[in-house]
Amino acid sequence: MKVWVDHDVCTGDGLCEETAPAVFQLEDGVSYVRDGRGALLMGGGMADVPDHEIDGVLDAAEQCPGECIFIEG
Ligand code: SF4
Repeated sequence: MKVWVDHDVCTGDGLCEETAPAVFQLEDGVSYVRDGRGALLMGGGMADVPDHEIDGVLDAAEQCPGECIFIEG
């Protein structure tokens, strides 16, 4: 499974970081995602989600008020 955030509509409320802190991190008021090795994708882009983080990422996407967490695969 892969995940990315649309920074143009991210509200920066941080719910995703609270829900799945190993995957999402707020920087400069928007949420960035970590790739499978833990590196923050500051240039944007799509991250591989480790199997043990899938439930948290799905919960974050469901709760996201900006509806800007996108999942593929
Ligand atoms: S929950 Fe959604 S709107 Fe809120 S910071 Fe995370 S990606 Fe942005």
